[in-house]
Amino acid sequence: MTSNGKQNGNGNGIGTVSNLGYPRIGEQREWKKALEAYWKGDLPEERLEAEMKRLRLQNIKKQHDAGVDLISAGDFTRYDHVLDHTVAFGLVPERFGGLKADGAPALYFAMARGAEGIAACEMTKWFNTNYHYIVPEWGPESAPALRSNPWLAAFEEAKAELGLVTKPVLVGPYTFVRLSKGVAAGAREQAVRKLLPIYAEALAQLETAGAEWIQIDEPALSLDVAASDWPLLNEIYHVLRAAAPGLKLIVQTYFDAVDDYEALVSLPVNGIGLDFVHDGGATLKQIARYGFPPQMTLGAGIVDGRNIWKTDLTAALALLDSLKQCIAPERIMLQPSCSLLHAPVTLKHEKKLQGIKRLAMAFADEKLGELAVLRAAMREGLSAVKLELQDNTLLFDALRKSPERNRFSPVNGAVDGGAAVARRPAFEERRKAQQAKWNLPLLPTTTIGSLPQTSEIRKARRQWRKGELDNAAYETFIRAKIAEWIAVQEQLGLDVLVHGEFERNDMVEFFGECLEGYVFTDNGWVQSYGSRCVKPPVLFGDIAHTAPMTVPETVYAASLTDKPVKGMLTGPLTMLNWSFVRTDIPRKAVAFQLADAIRAEVEALEAAGIGMIQVDEPALREGAPLKNREWQEYLGWGVEAFKRAVGTVQDTTQIHTHMCYCDFHEMIGAIRDMDADVISLETSRSHGTLIEALRGERYDKGIGLGVYDIHSPFIPDTAEMERIIREALDAVPPELLWVNPDCGLKTRNTEETLLSLRRMVEAADRIRGSLMQVGV
Ligand code: GLN
Ligand code: ZN
Repeated sequence: MTSNGKQNGNGNGIGTVSNLGYPRIGEQREWKKALEAYWKGDLPEERLEAEMKRLRLQNIKKQHDAGVDLISAGDFTRYDHVLDHTVAFGLVPERFGGLKADGAPALYFAMARGAEGIAACEMTKWFNTNYHYIVPEWGPESAPALRSNPWLAAFEEAKAELGLVTKPVLVGPYTFVRLSKGVAAGAREQAVRKLLPIYAEALAQLETAGAEWIQIDEPALSLDVAASDWPLLNEIYHVLRAAAPGLKLIVQTYFDAVDDYEALVSLPVNGIGLDFVHDGGATLKQIARYGFPPQMTLGAGIVDGRNIWKTDLTAALALLDSLKQCIAPERIMLQPSCSLLHAPVTLKHEKKLQGIKRLAMAFADEKLGELAVLRAAMREGLSAVKLELQDNTLLFDALRKSPERNRFSPVNGAVDGGAAVARRPAFEERRKAQQAKWNLPLLPTTTIGSLPQTSEIRKARRQWRKGELDNAAYETFIRAKIAEWIAVQEQLGLDVLVHGEFERNDMVEFFGECLEGYVFTDNGWVQSYGSRCVKPPVLFGDIAHTAPMTVPETVYAASLTDKPVKGMLTGPLTMLNWSFVRTDIPRKAVAFQLADAIRAEVEALEAAGIGMIQVDEPALREGAPLKNREWQEYLGWGVEAFKRAVGTVQDTTQIHTHMCYCDFHEMIGAIRDMDADVISLETSRSHGTLIEALRGERYDKGIGLGVYDIHSPFIPDTAEMERIIREALDAVPPELLWVNPDCGLKTRNTEETLLSLRRMVEAADRIRGSLMQVGV
């Protein structure tokens, strides 16, 4: 290693490689396994602590061996790094008070996951990623204080055990408060001021301990920031600067450009970290236009920290050349665009992945390798990395020419034009045609699609995948389940039935495996929340529908009953937002390819006689940009993609959709524009607000508001469900209202499912009875 941190002093050489955070889960998800064993009582606390320490140090050591000059410390956590701050600041909501005596881990995990009779803290998405953090909760009584200093502990541990001077990383006060619950917009300053002495104390301790650089994450600066927030931001960084004058502070932003660039680079700090990958090209323009303060260090996020693709080194070097026009090379640090928390750990254990697909990918470890190559190019010139550059150019050439990415030549994705996207005629007319065809009662009852995925079903699928069960036997098994549950649904008296999705592992993976263009990894896990990891499928090539994916099961289910059976598909936006997406063509183009593939399935179902088809879009909200002004564009093509998937069916074919985790009022316009005949919404946490929104903005198509929360183990009784339906009738006319649970039932057991659906049908029946009496 000609150019590691030691020789140049940490963070003081040309092209210093600085990492912003590293995946905590371990190469084989050891972290998850340890946590879950501890929760089950199979791993004592000391052993959990020992395993956590081992992983923490191993992560740092791996980064050091990869040549990272500035390795972050304090990014590792036992559950969530935001919760670590909340607990260190003593922001423990009142309801956990009694647990303090039980010791730190008990309290910590209770806040994360709840405890006997105490609700967990809320959890929500970290910006536009699929990582979820535990929301800090403030109350009027909150009096934060520095209860512990986990950043100091991590710093000292790395120094003592590995002899390394690391870069502690904290979430900044502005972002922490903006992400908190219980702080009104007007009370932001007050909350920040309560925190400033705490940050000041923590930083002073780090200074005394010999820290040099501190990374302060302020991703909230990539959201819409009011002009009136900048004086507060200045105050924050003046205070922190004064608290530890010997430290070098770098304010790190990511996930998008920061609108007020001039204000940002005027903060009294030593460095600013910017995302050059997910900024739509805005950041380089800002630097060219306004310059970069000569005494400041730039953290240049040039390697995508949240996707799995190799970096185009030629493009990255061109970007660095442009930066060098404005900034002295010794003031440029090379970084991933954000913490590598959002990338899988390593390609090392990928067995299936071969050829160009493997070559095209870089997980966290490989991304660090790329940064080292870029550093060598900066320090020693291009000749030092000739081979790497050659390989990289060949790869990108091959990718451009890859037949899998050129199915729709000549235009990338060839997505404009083609199928009609709007259904004719308008909803009101379709509704009449559909009513004449189906003759459904008022308040039709149905479910969202999946029925209990019992251990028996999962076992059969495992056996089938391993080859222990042949195709015919597996199919017979699935058919038996379908038949069993069609009978159950008839007996319960549901009006619109489903086949139950027993053949599906996951609503995206199932379709991804059937379509051309998707690639799957063995071990590409990323943390979603707590110990839960997901392995998103990879949108590698152009997407094509080659054979029916759901027709046999759906048609079989329909053959067993006279009631309508809904076909059940995952929509294009959800396929897009829950996958790793190729970046050589616009997201919109990928969405349209997916839409065309789903449409082929919609048409196949319709041709096979299925007259109700549900296209789920639970992840519509997730792809929304961070800045409000960009929503319109996203929702514009998002709605277009949905319509493209369903737009060609006959008037009598009823299109349903389902959404969850979505603040309905945020996007009611877009939802209406999707023009589905029936939509069902997850409403468990927001039933009241939703009804309010519906009163304000009349929704004029079929709509089902979940009448109970399927995620809760408590099933409301019939009277409670009746009350919820009546409340909905306040805002929705009876001829448009549907009755359904609020999401799929695959995680519930059979008894719970039977009981809840029996009550739901009963509640709908009672209300129907009273509506008939008044002559609706
Ligand atoms: N049809 C899917 C199911 O019932 C919908 C799942 C979801 O909304 N996430 O499981
Ligand atoms: Zn749902």
